[in-house]
Parts: sequence; C-alpha cells; structure tokens
Amino acid sequence: MARVSAMNERVGRLLESVDEPFLVTDPTNVFYLSGFRSSNAALLIERERVRLFTDFRYAGAARAVEAVDFVQTQRSLVHGIAQNVEGSVAFEAATMTYANWSTLKDAGLQLVPTQGVVEKLRAVKGDDELEKIREACRITDAVYAAMAEERFVGRPERDLAWRMEQLFHAQGADSLAFELIVGSGPTGALPHARATERIVEANTTVVIDAGCEVDGYVSDCTRTFATGELPDDLARAYEVCSRAQRSALAAVRPGAAGKEVDGVSREPIEQAGWGEKYGHGLGHGVGLLVHEAPTLRPESEDVLEPGNVVTVEPGIYLEGEGGVRIEDLVVVTETGCEILTHFTKELVTVS
Ligand code: ZN
Ligand code: ZN
Repeated sequence: MARVSAMNERVGRLLESVDEPFLVTDPTNVFYLSGFRSSNAALLIERERVRLFTDFRYAGAARAVEAVDFVQTQRSLVHGIAQNVEGSVAFEAATMTYANWSTLKDAGLQLVPTQGVVEKLRAVKGDDELEKIREACRITDAVYAAMAEERFVGRPERDLAWRMEQLFHAQGADSLAFELIVGSGPTGALPHARATERIVEANTTVVIDAGCEVDGYVSDCTRTFATGELPDDLARAYEVCSRAQRSALAAVRPGAAGKEVDGVSREPIEQAGWGEKYGHGLGHGVGLLVHEAPTLRPESEDVLEPGNVVTVEPGIYLEGEGGVRIEDLVVVTETGCEILTHFTKELVTVS
C-alpha cells in the first residue's frame, strides 16, 4: 500500500489543511496532486493512503502513478467511489454535480463541501512550475517580436491570428494557451473579441492577446500595436493605459490585496475620464490554467504572496473606434514582482 510518507509534498501540504478524507474531482487538481491527466478520474486523499479512481481506458497510465492505490471503476466513477468509501468525506463543491452528489449521499456518505482548497495551493508556484511558465513566456516574447515584423494593414485579423499560431509552433510551444485575440479598430474595443474577417486598416490600434502552453503550464500576454499614426484619443488612451499598467506593477508585492492593486490601476484611467471604458478586472492568476487564483479585481478577497503568478492588464475600450490593453505576466517575489513577459511596451508601429 502506498504510504503518505512517500507521497509528494503537494499532498502533504493539502493534508495540513483538511480534516476529513478529501475527494478531489477537479481534473486540473487531480493532475496537480498526482501528475495523472484524465477527464475521468478522482483522488481520495487520506492520511494513510491516496486512492486514484479511474476507468479501464486510463488503467495502464493509472497503474504507473507513484504512491497511489489505483481503484478501477466503471465509466461512472461515482458508483465506484461510493462502494469504496464510508463516513465523512470532504468534496470540491465547484466540480461535484448534483447527480453525483446525490449518488454519494444515497450511499450513506456524509458530504462536507469545500471550495478553493487545492486552488489555494496551486496559487503558490514552486521553482519547477516557474521554470515552465518562464519558458512559455520566452516563446511568447519571441512570437511577439516576429509579429512586429509582419505586415498588418490590408490583412484580415484571422490571417494574422493564424500566422501567430504558426509562429508559436515554430518556437516550440506545445499548443496555444487559449484562442488568441487579434482585434483591430472596433474589434479591439471588445475586450474578448476573437479575430474576425475584418481587414486591418491603417492608423488604428490592434490588440493582440496570446499565450502558449509548455509542459502543462501557460503564459498570457497582451500588446497593442499601431498601424501608422493614431487618432488623438487612441494615442492618449495608449499613454494612459501604459501609465496605469506601470503603477499597478509597482503595487504588486506580498501582502497587497488583489482589490488594492486593481484600484491603483483604475486611478489614472478614471482621471482621464475613461473609468467606464475599463470594465474588467486588472488581472488573474496563471499556471496550469489561464485563469486561476489569485485574482486582482474590485471584488477580490485575495492577498498576494510570494510565488503567485498573476497578469497585470488594464485596458481602455473606445466603442466603435479601437481598444488598448497592455498585459504582462509577473511572479510575486519577496519584495515586489518580477516581470516574466519582456516584449517592449513602447508603442510599436507596424506597417
Ligand atoms: Zn491575455
Ligand atoms: Zn489575461
């Protein structure tokens, strides 16, 4: 039987914060704790042992996972779990469906809901994780540098997005971190617009938001390019956004509240009269997922600590005209933060 002493330190840290046996059903959390990747798996973590539940399709891979006892179930995991567990069990409320909850309840288990327990551990990155995120950022920097050499004007946004995807693969990324955004003119004024068939015009902004995955970890970076001389309000928006981004970066440090850093980024934008044009939060954690803990936004309850990896991405969106967003990925250090995305934030004009 696998002993917890042989388990990795992530499981050890989890055990410090839970009392009951802990059932992990979120696939990203299962991967984080065991290294096992499957769309149909669960971990039951107890002091004496860790059990991994999955079905026949993943059995071979599951047997190779160190320091866990593998329990093969039918395709429906939850029935297998119900047969193997009794008493009180803590579960992840965000991923347990009502149907599965009912099955476990009917089997006589006392179910204790929890939220964000493993996510809190994931929010503090170890050196091995940081190394992968750094590599994803290095690739992203190189791709932005190559994009700056591309011709923009006269090309559809989708064409530029496809070119960028090719560059990510050429630079060694495993995949894109998310569907990348190329928003020119009015498209760029929609913060989460995808690339469209719109032809990029001269004298406007193009917002490009992209990242890639390396060994399971992702990067996230936004730069705004100019296609020639910008109209006055877009030029001013770039200047204001870049000031907001710099002050927010200076406010990122251990002990700072997510909502406090968010607030710092809002001041210059509100002073310029564009408070309403910056309708999203300043940033989010990044790691195995592109959106994870902690968050930097007005309603955030999070407080930053060393090892957090977060984005700092204020934006200004002028409807019908164009958008500006500048996003860096940073790691919180003992004294402040270190920026991981290095492509220039001076306004780059493309042809
Ligand atoms: Zn982004
Ligand atoms: Zn982001």
